[in-house]
Amino acid sequence: MHLNTDYILLSKANITPTSNRVLVLRLFLGNSNAFTLNAAAQELFFMEKSTIFRTLQVFESKGILHSVVTDDGVKNYALCTVDCIKDNHAHRHAHLKCSICEHLYCIPVTSLPVFESARRFQIDKVYMLANGTCEECNRVAS
Ligand SMILES: [Zn+2]
Ligand SMILES: [Zn+2]
Ligand SMILES: [Zn+2]
Repeated sequence: MHLNTDYILLSKANITPTSNRVLVLRLFLGNSNAFTLNAAAQELFFMEKSTIFRTLQVFESKGILHSVVTDDGVKNYALCTVDCIKDNHAHRHAHLKCSICEHLYCIPVTSLPVFESARRFQIDKVYMLANGTCEECNRVAS
């Protein structure tokens, strides 16, 4: 077994690189979109769903994946950037849900919104969810 990015990423996060964990990670490394538990289980049909669920939770707590709940109440998981570390996700981006393929994508933002009521409220986290169509679906449509 040679060292490739999967293993380096996992060992950096102090995660034992079991074959299941590597397979789950490769799903995210090989796709630009986020995955719900169900969508990940569909791709990794040969794996126990409970194993996938536990793996996603471990990855989230170790700063490899972050999660986003979309307006349908479903949790999506997406790859983190290198700035994320254990228990401290450093995200400054929005998420776009494609209305055609229903995939969720991370989109960088150049500036965060400024809240007028910031003196009365303490804002800890901002979730930005956009609806539209993704690059892939736009290409097919044109
Ligand atoms: Zn993160
Ligand atoms: Zn799409
Ligand atoms: Zn994201």
